[in-house]
Amino acid sequence: MKSLTKADEMLIEEAKNIIKSKYKRGHTRHTVGCAIRMKSGDIVYGINLDGIHSICAEQTAISGCYTRGQLDFDTIVAVGVIGKDFKVLAPCGNCRQFLSEYAPSINIIIDTDAGKRKVSLDELLPHRYIEHVKTL
Ligand SMILES: [Zn+2]
Repeated sequence: MKSLTKADEMLIEEAKNIIKSKYKRGHTRHTVGCAIRMKSGDIVYGINLDGIHSICAEQTAISGCYTRGQLDFDTIVAVGVIGKDFKVLAPCGNCRQFLSEYAPSINIIIDTDAGKRKVSLDELLPHRYIEHVKTL
């Protein structure tokens, strides 16, 4: 578990800003924003889609990275609208497995009892399922 850098704090603000620009009170859609900082410094964004078929903001952001061909992941953070506040959210179980498959080396910003910290996927999802590739 690592302390946050200024760049990490800025990434949280980026995630807040993407959800502020998409979130409309009274609607249930787009209540989570996600920002991924690539090793190049580029930021890729995602928002959740929570219709009948839903997808988390982390997954739309990772999909955007793959669409751009940018796979040099550094750090991810998701921010959700909780009441009137924006809070850093830990990835759900589905997203933890998704990150394990598509961005296993990414750092994840979470909010802990000791404050916001940056963790690895090994810390967030120990003993995770890893598909074994079959060789023919
Ligand atoms: Zn999720």
